[in-house]
Amino acid sequence: MLLNVEKALGNIFSKLDFVYFPLIKRENELKKYDFCFIEGAVTNKEQVKLIKHLRKKSRFVVAFGTCATYGGIASIQDFENETLAEEVYGSKISRISDTVQGIGNYINVDYYMRGCPVIKDELLKTIDFFEQMKIPPDYELPVCVECRKKGNRCLLAVDHLPCMGAITYGGCDALCTSQGIPCQGCRGPLPSANVDARVKVFEKFGMSKEDIRRRFIKFAGTSKKFRRILKEL
Ligand code: SF4
Ligand code: SF4
Repeated sequence: MLLNVEKALGNIFSKLDFVYFPLIKRENELKKYDFCFIEGAVTNKEQVKLIKHLRKKSRFVVAFGTCATYGGIASIQDFENETLAEEVYGSKISRISDTVQGIGNYINVDYYMRGCPVIKDELLKTIDFFEQMKIPPDYELPVCVECRKKGNRCLLAVDHLPCMGAITYGGCDALCTSQGIPCQGCRGPLPSANVDARVKVFEKFGMSKEDIRRRFIKFAGTSKKFRRILKEL
């Protein structure tokens, strides 16, 4: 994901010295790291062991992207029946693992860089903080704020489409809703999210319980906010 910032890569590499980055550079492990970026969900015991090891060696640990934050798309399997993978992919495919979780389920995380994918501008701004050995503040406003600022028509209120914008961390500049696509909630639920109210609105606009459940398990079903409501759906 980091490599997708293309033109800004030179700038990033001039600010941060990547000492261990399996895709491009693998040096001997250092005794200590300033920052450890962990990408992807945790799916087995070896990975739990590895991230605990990295936690001990790192001053700051960053969950990089929605998979590292909540488990992401792969965590859907935790909420579906055992035969789903087989139904979709055929008989030779089985579940990825017993459970798919974000890294915060196992270790203390200093910063969550949410998004599927992470937004380039946000990444660059965040790296400026890291360069000063600081953790940026969380952006704690919903997608709706950026969406309304851009003057978009509300896809929920006007078109009755299942938009998750009101309960989802903003910071993506309302990327999807600006293209007429309802927010899928890829950045996860805000601490202040009124999830019950969102369910009621979705029901009022004709969504079935099953469709609502699928909306909530898509990216962040493992979050506390969504886990609770999923038990009721
Ligand atoms: S379209 Fe979605 S994100 Fe935009 S204002 Fe409406 S509910 Fe909020
Ligand atoms: S609008 Fe929603 S789904 Fe789209 S990038 Fe933003 S948070 Fe993710």
